[in-house]
Amino acid sequence: MAKVSLRHIYKVYDGKVKAVSDFNLEIEDKEFIVFVGPSGCGKSTTLRMVAGLEEISAGELWIGDMLCNHVEPKNRNISMVFQNYALFPNMTVYNNIAFGLRMHKVPKDEIDKKVRAAAETLGITEYLNRKPKALSGGQRQRVALGRAIVREPNVFLFDEPLSNLDAKLRAKMRTEITRLHKSLQTTFIYVTHDQVEAMTMGDRIVVMKGGFVQQIDTPQNLFRYPENKFVAGFIGTPQMNFFRARLTRGEDGGVTAAADGFTLVIPPEHTYNIDDAYTDGCKDVFLGIRPDDIKPTGGDSADACIKANVSIVEELGTQTIIHADTADDAVFKEDSETAFCSVTVENVGIKAGDEACFSVNTAKIHIFDAQTEITVKHRVPTVTADCEVKNGKIKMLGGTAPLPPALVGLLPDGKYRATVAPDSVRIADGGGFAGVIESADDLGKSTYVYRVRMGDTRVFVRDGAVRSVGDKVSAQLLFDRIAFSNDGGVAAEALADVVRIDGKYIIEKVGKEKKRFIDAHSVKMETPFEFDKKMYACGRSIFKKALRFEIDADAVTFVTDGVPVEVAEILDYGKKFASVRLGDKTFVLPVRTEVPTGEAFISFDFDKMRVFDAELDMRLF
Ligand code: ADP
Repeated sequence: MAKVSLRHIYKVYDGKVKAVSDFNLEIEDKEFIVFVGPSGCGKSTTLRMVAGLEEISAGELWIGDMLCNHVEPKNRNISMVFQNYALFPNMTVYNNIAFGLRMHKVPKDEIDKKVRAAAETLGITEYLNRKPKALSGGQRQRVALGRAIVREPNVFLFDEPLSNLDAKLRAKMRTEITRLHKSLQTTFIYVTHDQVEAMTMGDRIVVMKGGFVQQIDTPQNLFRYPENKFVAGFIGTPQMNFFRARLTRGEDGGVTAAADGFTLVIPPEHTYNIDDAYTDGCKDVFLGIRPDDIKPTGGDSADACIKANVSIVEELGTQTIIHADTADDAVFKEDSETAFCSVTVENVGIKAGDEACFSVNTAKIHIFDAQTEITVKHRVPTVTADCEVKNGKIKMLGGTAPLPPALVGLLPDGKYRATVAPDSVRIADGGGFAGVIESADDLGKSTYVYRVRMGDTRVFVRDGAVRSVGDKVSAQLLFDRIAFSNDGGVAAEALADVVRIDGKYIIEKVGKEKKRFIDAHSVKMETPFEFDKKMYACGRSIFKKALRFEIDADAVTFVTDGVPVEVAEILDYGKKFASVRLGDKTFVLPVRTEVPTGEAFISFDFDKMRVFDAELDMRLF
């Protein structure tokens, strides 16, 4: 039994082809994790890195409390089951299962006990004396499972184990593997391109595309809260429908979606989490509507009716699948941008060739940016709020606060729009702004997101405490994390909380000693031994690379002797920050004790420094 951690794992072939990029995942002990995605997305490569069959280009792989990057596959205590079974054709089933144990010199009677127990679990006892060629595909796959089970590994790895089986057998083996996971109580990592397999088997699913993790979540959450159009389209059958559209927010807060051939009105109660940057009628979005959320109405009286020409009707007994197109032409075209699919359990008597009316469950609409394809209807959204600055005070979210000195020069009296991200509001006693909790969502791991009404605006706040709808709360605004804009553009940006430095890693002789430095923005910063060790572990080529160094601003402190910088300005947001120049680079640091402007010294907590290969955009550690 073991946890498995993949931390910033990359796989680069031939120094340039990135097959896997920045893969991060903490797999809990006994968890069933599925990697899913189309062919070539990097799922097998990732699994093979866990198995030790593929070298890890960068990042760390931990199995239990052992760093496994350079541990031999046989010492990782894992078992892998492949698609092609990899059985010895000239050995009996018994000997195939016993093979690994014999290699490990396990006593004969113990082998016998284990082989028979595994055969019993898998229902293949009666075939123990047969050779693989006298077995069906499903039986062979069970033998391969048996061989994995008897080794009693900490982690089971499966690489598309069911893809050689027919549909019926696949469904049966799916439930068997799920049952096996329950009885073995061991960590499973399972690779498949089949989303149904992923959805039915995984505790959590990792959706991959082009070497990048798209989203990691439970099957339910992937279905309900897909973070991008790819995940939305990949998870769920029949596939989600997509319609190109533009959005406009009305006076009442409702949002009108104008698509090609129809208009939908999403009522205010379902639009709080739509990003306001997309409701000005100018940006293209995709509406995502699952086939279950668009149904024929049986008439044409409904307000939010989509008129469409029906091209195909598939009667499946328990449900009917209707293919239709809002374009005039009812001929079924796979690539039509206006075609959609509707699933209904009621028989509404619609036939191919009919013009029919469909209504949409607007509560369940998904919306994606047409270019980036990222959702603009976030589970934890950023909202915009009107605000007014007057006589040194700022009025927003139903309350008033003194305008922080740092904003005085930036926000002259007038009206602004504030961009309020979830981390810029904190529920805190005596916070100064009053709110009422309108809805609560459990994100897991003791994190909740609350929709809080403050004045006539709703903001979303992440919080660790359990609260109820209707609770009155007091909230604090973190003005350094709020951006303000008006018609002239951005008036004040939110402060960055990460310091990014571009440079190189160099070695130089200082007196008789060789010393190592980060050479960036015309400043040399000596590095400590522990950091040098990590840099050297990346190979000698580290000295030739263009690098990016990142560190959280709160891991940089002012000291009496260290890296020389110039404090250009102290920014007072209630909490104080210093605008600092390091050579030609400017960044902002939190100030804990008084810092005068002018010359100063800073020190980095090098344990917390993240290093990237700038050219490959690859995190080295
Ligand atoms: P999947 O299992 O998701 O189908 P893989 O992990 O097998 O995908 O492959 C991911 C990517 O890495 C693919 O683009 C593939 O072409 C590439 N790749 C795999 N093995 C090698 C290799 N030995 N050399 C170069 N590229 C490779």
